[in-house]
Amino acid sequence: MIELKTANEIERMQPAGRLVAAILTELTAVADVGVNLLDLEHRARELVRDNNATSCYWDYAPSFGNGPFRNVVCTSVNDAVLHGLPHDYVLADGDLLSLDLAVEVDGWVADSAVSVIVGEPRPADVKLIGATRVALEAGIAAATVGNRIGDISAAIGRVAADYGYRPNTRYGGHGVGRTMHEDPSVPNNGTAGRGFPLRPGLVIAIEPWFLTGGDRIRHDRDGWTIRSADGSRGAHSEHTVAVTEDGPRVLTRRDSEYP
Ligand code: MG
Ligand code: MG
Repeated sequence: MIELKTANEIERMQPAGRLVAAILTELTAVADVGVNLLDLEHRARELVRDNNATSCYWDYAPSFGNGPFRNVVCTSVNDAVLHGLPHDYVLADGDLLSLDLAVEVDGWVADSAVSVIVGEPRPADVKLIGATRVALEAGIAAATVGNRIGDISAAIGRVAADYGYRPNTRYGGHGVGRTMHEDPSVPNNGTAGRGFPLRPGLVIAIEPWFLTGGDRIRHDRDGWTIRSADGSRGAHSEHTVAVTEDGPRVLTRRDSEYP
């Protein structure tokens, strides 16, 4: 079921969005060569707790996972791209780190992800991250009343194709509200003009993630971490976006963000 939010409810989702943005801003500032992924997880836990928020990941146990998730942030490094389980790993020069975070504040959820490079960037990684950001902005721009979900998907898919990447549509965007994953799903490729019509009050996570190699993925034995099948690197950019009469409203926008 697709649930539309009132203007007042969207307003009440904004604090969760602001907090997710603030935490991701801090974590990306802390992430550096020599920093352990577990330090990022612990800092995220402090920030969630100190802001009277609840992690949507803690105890999350979907059909695809391997038991309840006992972390508040996903840390995916290099060929890992989604659902990366924070573990004892020290970031090395040139690592591509994707952070994904969803929290609940006063009963409303926001979900956002960002990829960064620590240390000396490789040009291919800069291009890959850039592509997910451009695709995210294209998806957001298409999130207007009168369009359909397929217009967002097609906008993302077009950017992927422009950059020479092939989106994997097994995991993608989704509705957001009282819970982290609601209807409708928002695939990272599709046909313009198709799918659910975008109405005022629809709140969705738009989240392009691309791999530099093929579109095939594999799951780690930890049951969570998703990697490219061919070892190529992946990147992920996500925002929670409300469709409004005045256009798309990004609830998780970071101050430091492009453009
Ligand atoms: Mg997310
Ligand atoms: Mg999401």
